[in-house]
Amino acid sequence: MQYTGSITSKLPWAGTTIFTIMSALAQEHGAINLSQGFPNFETSGELIDLVHHYMQKGMNQYAPMQGILPLRKVIAEKTAALYGATINPETEITITSGGTQAIFTAITALIRSGDEVIVIEPAYDCYVPAIELAGGTPVFVQLQAPDNHVDWTHVRNKISAKTRMIMINTPHNPTGSFLTAADMRSLEQLTAGTDILILSDEVYEHLIFDGQQHQSVLRFPELAARSLVVYSFGKTYHTTGWKMGYCIAPENLMVEFRRVHQFMVFCANAPIQYALADYMQNKNYLELPDFFQQKRDHFLKLLQGSAFRFTPAGGSYFQLLDYSAITDEKDTDFAIRLTKEVGVASIPTSVFYRQPTDRKLLRFCFAKTDETLEQAAERLLRVNS
Ligand code: GLN
Repeated sequence: MQYTGSITSKLPWAGTTIFTIMSALAQEHGAINLSQGFPNFETSGELIDLVHHYMQKGMNQYAPMQGILPLRKVIAEKTAALYGATINPETEITITSGGTQAIFTAITALIRSGDEVIVIEPAYDCYVPAIELAGGTPVFVQLQAPDNHVDWTHVRNKISAKTRMIMINTPHNPTGSFLTAADMRSLEQLTAGTDILILSDEVYEHLIFDGQQHQSVLRFPELAARSLVVYSFGKTYHTTGWKMGYCIAPENLMVEFRRVHQFMVFCANAPIQYALADYMQNKNYLELPDFFQQKRDHFLKLLQGSAFRFTPAGGSYFQLLDYSAITDEKDTDFAIRLTKEVGVASIPTSVFYRQPTDRKLLRFCFAKTDETLEQAAERLLRVNS
């Protein structure tokens, strides 16, 4: 079928997201899929049993629009314990259908036509479309090589009278870098005395390695008072397909967030919320840094002596591999060839830029069983310079 009227695309430059493209290509060629970020091991059987339990108990109708209070309470307790922040579970937390929905909702609720939003590139691919659909203008600042740090003077230079929001992401997708306490203090100084909002994507909060601590904006009261902070149960409980997350923000920002959320999804999945409220009590997210660091270290040890160059990811479940010693092909071309000919799928990092920027870096997800990582590394070792 074809619609015969006229269509003016609202996102004319957007193709299908790279995660869908690369996962489909991996499947088509029977390649090991280290592209889209998702674990290939199971979540806890206890958590699945709890979801089943609440489904059988009849918790199958709408949850409250904001999310169930017991879950919001346990999130507030966790946030107090980890980040020293006092969050009101009634008014300052909303349960969402994943991190992406929380980001879209926050931007839709708070960005108007003509507003500028500072985006640090490379940036996760849902940020810019959300800004543009809200009528806002993304203003880009580049992470600095080689360690992908933010130069805050660059951010300062991009702030104008129109700047409404600064988006940050720590630990960072796709580079695996993270913001330090000094970064947070710079951000605090930059925004002091302004009305600028911060949208802080902290979905990889527990995936930080080598003894580093996640520097949530919520640890910094002046930042917390101007921030909407996004978290993901998918990343924390190996359940990306459940599409569950939450947003924390000061009450008056959360009022605006909920005005949109209620008409976008009304509420998130009910039985999973009851299950998570119980399951979160065991605090086993505290084991995640060690768990994922072992995976990173295993993968990188296997890649010693390969033609790829790398600096270990400091956080997230993504490892960048520099292939400049192998070929000068475009990263998109090389990612496709590696999938078809070598049998390992990855994500070319140029897609995380509005103006494709080819740094000869591919992103590999190491949230995989040891066996998968071993098979992938064996194939990658065959790629010669
Ligand atoms: N966040 C995941 C990644 O970066 C994928 C999410 C998605 O497929 N939309 O790979």
